[in-house]
Amino acid sequence: PRAFQHPVCVALKPKGAGAVLPVAAGLPDAIFETDGVMTKRPVRAVTLSSLAPKPGELLWDIGGGSGSVGIEWLLAHRACRAISVEPRADRVGLIEHNAAALGVDRLRVVHGEAPDVLTGLPSPDAVFIGGGLSAEMMDALEGLLPAGTRIVANAVTLEAERLLAETHAIKGGELLRIDVSTAQPLGAKTAWKPSYPLVQWSGVL
Ligand code: SAH
Repeated sequence: PRAFQHPVCVALKPKGAGAVLPVAAGLPDAIFETDGVMTKRPVRAVTLSSLAPKPGELLWDIGGGSGSVGIEWLLAHRACRAISVEPRADRVGLIEHNAAALGVDRLRVVHGEAPDVLTGLPSPDAVFIGGGLSAEMMDALEGLLPAGTRIVANAVTLEAERLLAETHAIKGGELLRIDVSTAQPLGAKTAWKPSYPLVQWSGVL
């Protein structure tokens, strides 16, 4: 029910009808249960656009968290498939809960740390790195992935940002910085509350 407080959903929900999900990427945050760690709607919308799902493609969602990116990938087309990798057992439960609550039964959740648990998984068409980004992760992916696999990596820390800047210098692709601010109450007035700046690299390893 919380989801329908979002203006997009309010507009779409006919009186007395059940849940209606928009078809565009960047679904309302409120439809996902979360422990606070989640790629929020504006960044998720850009991330899905960068991942560019096509019918039948397989995504590795590394650092699944609440599962929002993997689940949105699956909702893009009924033939899409995804594997979320998440080391925290409580978040594995959260991902499975969210997938079930949104009627998605094509999400495989692998409990463990990337890159260790990646060996032996079916080769993906695209990889999202939303957690655990490191030089070791990039090297391991380069060894594992077929040439041409699309990678999208999001970084918030300076260390991760530096790695993506180096990757961009060597591999090309696209480097974006996304700065999102949200209007929030400040006393009796309203002011911009900035989120951490996020750096996103999209390319091919
Ligand atoms: N995109 C997610 C949020 C990711 S937060 C969402 O929308 O919910 C980053 C996640 O990466 C955390 O849940 C963390 O437990 C996980 N993580 C950290 N290191 C990791 C690693 N080496 N392999 C896989 N996941 C990792």
